[in-house]
Amino acid sequence: MAYDKVEVPEEGEKITVDDDDEFIVPDNPIIPIIHGDGIGKDVGPAAQKVLEAAAEATGREINWMRVYAGESARERYDGENLPEDTLEAFKEFKVGIKGPLTTPVGAGFRSLNVALRKKLDLYTNMRPTYHLDGVPSPVKAPEKMDMVNFRENTEDVYAGIEWEAGTDEVQQVKEFVEEEMGFDATIHDGPVGIGVKPITEFGTKRLVRQAIKYAIANDRDSVTLVHKGNIMKFTEGAFRDWGYELAAEEFPEQTITEDELWEEYDGEAPEGVVVMKDRIADNMLQQILTRTEQYDVLAMPNLNGDYLSDAAGAQIGGLGIAPGANIGDGRLLAEPVHGSAPKYAGEDKVNPSAMILSGRIMLDQIGWHDAADLVRDAVEETISSKKVTYDIERQIDGGEKLATSEFADEIVANIQELA
Ligand code: NAP
Repeated sequence: MAYDKVEVPEEGEKITVDDDDEFIVPDNPIIPIIHGDGIGKDVGPAAQKVLEAAAEATGREINWMRVYAGESARERYDGENLPEDTLEAFKEFKVGIKGPLTTPVGAGFRSLNVALRKKLDLYTNMRPTYHLDGVPSPVKAPEKMDMVNFRENTEDVYAGIEWEAGTDEVQQVKEFVEEEMGFDATIHDGPVGIGVKPITEFGTKRLVRQAIKYAIANDRDSVTLVHKGNIMKFTEGAFRDWGYELAAEEFPEQTITEDELWEEYDGEAPEGVVVMKDRIADNMLQQILTRTEQYDVLAMPNLNGDYLSDAAGAQIGGLGIAPGANIGDGRLLAEPVHGSAPKYAGEDKVNPSAMILSGRIMLDQIGWHDAADLVRDAVEETISSKKVTYDIERQIDGGEKLATSEFADEIVANIQELA
């Protein structure tokens, strides 16, 4: 593919995928990166430096390919926010990483992040939530949490099918619901906004498939379907039913249900088997606090996943730390959970851990487990030695406050020491 304003590195090879959409990874991959808006200028280069060091320490090499979205794209592509070059790069090179992108309020587009996920069909948002030693947390035993959240990215009330109060369209929908579908007197009179909540078998099953595959590959004990099927029977209830159905259809040997666990195995799961559970979302929000260690991999529709992954993220230290990745079939785009925090842009101040640990997910997903472990261990070592950025320093006693770039250098030094 000929790119307009993107330079493909001369060195390095492409990551490709096999017939099962598994990545085939050379030792010198070309990896597209968007530094991002606002603090992306700070955390993008910091993450690059750390990931490069981890690759080098394990005998490999990352060849970065800068691509652009948001402000950096507008400067280069005549005002365009999400140029074709960028989409093509992620399609062609399969695995990439991005920093945060600003969504200007009232700018006529919903969110560049959402647009990217949609255009690349990255249908899962994956967020590992585990505690790193030394990171301050609002709970007493943050180390009990070691969960991986799989949130559906394309459906549910986030599908964007909604109508504004006062429009002809919303009136038509209201009439259709009341008169043709017979839900008379369900919607109060007066101005109303209406949205649609689609949850499909296709969307549910491809998400749950990813969660189960992950659980099997990573020796996890359980996958919990988190839903509000008690109230929304035909959407969230269907999500639960299709989730169990998928497990039984495609992974009959590797999964059992929680009922089977008690009825047939007396509560002791056989070695290597993943237990499929389900929990109601509101209960789940308290269970992650009260029975944290009983949860492992979670699979959730979009809205539940949004709430739950932030709540879980807070338990292990919050935004500066929380990493994520968006995953499609044979495609992955890692990104931190936090936004572009414009007030700190370019100040070399914020915590790059979230972007660095998002890169760690990327390394893990391409099979570089040793490099991924090194990144995690080096970040942990740095934070537990109390050499930290402002956000952590203000919460601990006796910390040494480092700039973003200094903190990244410290992690690199720890990588070299630990390797
Ligand atoms: P934000 O950028 O995440 O920042 C909110 C606050 O979180 C910051 O003021 C800071 O708190 C803390 N924080 C965030 N990142 C941090 C880091 N790396 N290190 C330390 N502290 C950090 O949220 P926002 O201000 O609501 O959103 C700003 C823009 O980002 C918006 O345009 C939004 O749409 C966009 N956004 C993008 C993404 C994405 O790209 N995926 C995600 C969310 C939001 P203190 O000031 O208290 O220290």
